Amino acid sequence: MPIHAHAASAARQQLAPFDYEPAPLGPHDVEVTITHCGICHSDVHLVDNDWGVSSYPLVPGHEIVGTVSAAGERVTHLQNGQRVGIGWQRGACLTCRYCTTGREPLCKDNQATCAGHYGGFADRIRVDSRFAFPIPDRLASENAAPLLCGGITVYSPLRDFGVTPDMRVGVVGVGGLGHLALQYARAWGCEVTAFSHSPDKEQAALAFGAHRFVTSTDAGAVRRAGGLDFILSTVSADLDWNAYLDALAPGGTLCVVGVPQSAISVPAFALIGGQKRVVGSPIGGRAAIMEMLDFSARHGIVATTEAVPFSEVNPALEKVRNNTVRYRMVLTG
Ligand code: NAP
Ligand code: ZN
Repeated sequence: MPIHAHAASAARQQLAPFDYEPAPLGPHDVEVTITHCGICHSDVHLVDNDWGVSSYPLVPGHEIVGTVSAAGERVTHLQNGQRVGIGWQRGACLTCRYCTTGREPLCKDNQATCAGHYGGFADRIRVDSRFAFPIPDRLASENAAPLLCGGITVYSPLRDFGVTPDMRVGVVGVGGLGHLALQYARAWGCEVTAFSHSPDKEQAALAFGAHRFVTSTDAGAVRRAGGLDFILSTVSADLDWNAYLDALAPGGTLCVVGVPQSAISVPAFALIGGQKRVVGSPIGGRAAIMEMLDFSARHGIVATTEAVPFSEVNPALEKVRNNTVRYRMVLTG
């Protein structure tokens, strides 16, 4: 039976219905019948070919929740009918030094769910079962779907870069990733500052867990917010990076997960004097994803969503493009 999906046929085109025959189910694969799929800004970057890596027809979607509807003969840890989530990564070698230490996104054979494969804006998908994660019962599918990419991308830097509860953390951008980052950083025990160029998001940012809100269009205000140990940028636009480096305490780290268009250019002395670091971070490995789902269920961390049917995918993508979503669009079957 063909999979019914929505695909872009060229860069910046509207998505249209697109059917394809799935590859045969491999011994470790599962087929998942999709009930929910979040729209990450990376889906917009892919449709628009912002990164120059897109190939068409392109079926976006990598914040998937659904139920297992078929399993290969070697799959023992998932059952038919079980609710699972799938994120950005759909496969890896599972034997290299990165895979065997929980850093599967760094594997040279890592496969992306919707780049080079057809993704989750569809009724079904087939992936390696080792990249399909049981969703804790306490999390509703609509609000959990965005955790599979947005959630793990902002959770894993707290873990990987040694953020501790005594630290002051800044989150730049209160969007899909940012509103989750505020919740994780607060639950982590940190003092949290939200930076946003949308003043109307102040009340929501405080409700998500920020202790204070800084309007980021004022570079002076960003600098005055200083003394931060860790700043996480979730923004897809170019920023005044020097202002954020000035807002770091000595020894502080600016971690970039958002993908702005231009190169990030910083003067050497902005790093040298205060021994500051600029780092990047991808999604997170399988162990981190399972930990993140458990942490989210325990702390009640979920995405604030706007749900629409798959048939309304084009206006939904447009809302992500023009930053009018509060705070994650989710397509539902
Ligand atoms: P999103 O929901 O659109 O949120 C991005 C936020 O950036 C917006 O809500 C806005 O926050 C801020 N922003 C947008 N335009 C801006 C501008 N011109 N100036 C300043 N701030 C601006 O997007 P998302 O889904 O969270 O994704 C954010 C970025 O992360 C994307 O580039 C995406 O590709 C990337 N990403 C990376 C990874 C990874 O593995 N590293 C994983 C997932 C996503 P305010 O209105 O609060 O300013
Ligand atoms: Zn994503």
